[in-house]
Amino acid sequence: MTDDATTGGRENVTVLGLGPMGQALAGAFLDGGHPTTVWNRTAAKADVLVDRGAATTRTPAEAVARSRLVVICVLDDAAVRSILDPAVGALRGRMLVNLTADSPTRAREMAAWAEHNGIDYLDGAILTPAPTMGGPDAVVLYSGRRAVFEAQLPTLSVLSDPAVYLGDDPGRAAAHEVALLDLFWTSMTALVHAFALASAEGVTAGELAPFAKGIATLLPPIIDDTAANLDRGEHTADVSNVRSAAAGIEHVIDAADVHGIDTSVLRAARSIVRGAVEDGHGDDDLSRLGDLLAPVPAR
Ligand code: NDP
Repeated sequence: MTDDATTGGRENVTVLGLGPMGQALAGAFLDGGHPTTVWNRTAAKADVLVDRGAATTRTPAEAVARSRLVVICVLDDAAVRSILDPAVGALRGRMLVNLTADSPTRAREMAAWAEHNGIDYLDGAILTPAPTMGGPDAVVLYSGRRAVFEAQLPTLSVLSDPAVYLGDDPGRAAAHEVALLDLFWTSMTALVHAFALASAEGVTAGELAPFAKGIATLLPPIIDDTAANLDRGEHTADVSNVRSAAAGIEHVIDAADVHGIDTSVLRAARSIVRGAVEDGHGDDDLSRLGDLLAPVPAR
């Protein structure tokens, strides 16, 4: 396949899905000088990219047929399949990079589907917001078929430089992503809960914000220490331990209960911490919980 591979030395790229992220990806490829074909279920979203030089087609199969490299980025992998199933004949022998966020299991299922249909598959996880694509802050992780990553590294580097390859397991990029989303969403839930509790006590969000940012600056060294403890399998407490965390969570629950604020997330945290204390880990560093929560040893 050569006619649809490159134009003037630049890889032809097809981008399927033009939500905010798909638009950003296609825009970065255009900025990088790549002949870019776009398709979206709602066709009008292609207009702005066509104005910038992209081609568009009526169907996904027609879009796929225009490039050796096909990048898809839509809501979830169910949407990916609904777009690609009718285009599977056109995809055979091409390289598919799926930058849609979904679970590690679904990523592996997508890879098996691609293998079954003769498609070279690379999965990806985008860790930064759409406006960062093509800029110095963009972070995109990849896993799956190494040959695809190596062949397309110059093109993928247009999106994020460096492009990060995590190995042959197609679920590995998604595994990083779901773990990081776990951190992000539980942190966001904690943030809005903290503002609600402060507000109930007459403290405005603006008054709390500078101190909330102070909490955030504590986290990077805690992340490093926790990771080191987990990788060593050793949880000696230097500063604070599981027992003191249990007491601290209790104070927050008491304060929230006074105002009738939902404490379900805090109660879940308390239950995990209490369980650790009951199992004899009260004097350990909080990193111990990472081992206790894992269903099987990760290493
Ligand atoms: P969305 O996650 O809202 O996805 C919108 C895209 O999915 C549109 O192209 C939409 O088509 C398409 N779509 C949804 N359902 C279907 C379906 N059943 N059949 C066909 N197409 C469908 O927007 P984003 O572009 O923001 O995100 C795309 C992916 O990128 C997601 O997995 C997201 O988690 C991930 N991501 C996004 C980030 C961001 O900053 N936006 C950051 C990091 C990751 P239509 O226009 O016709 O509705």
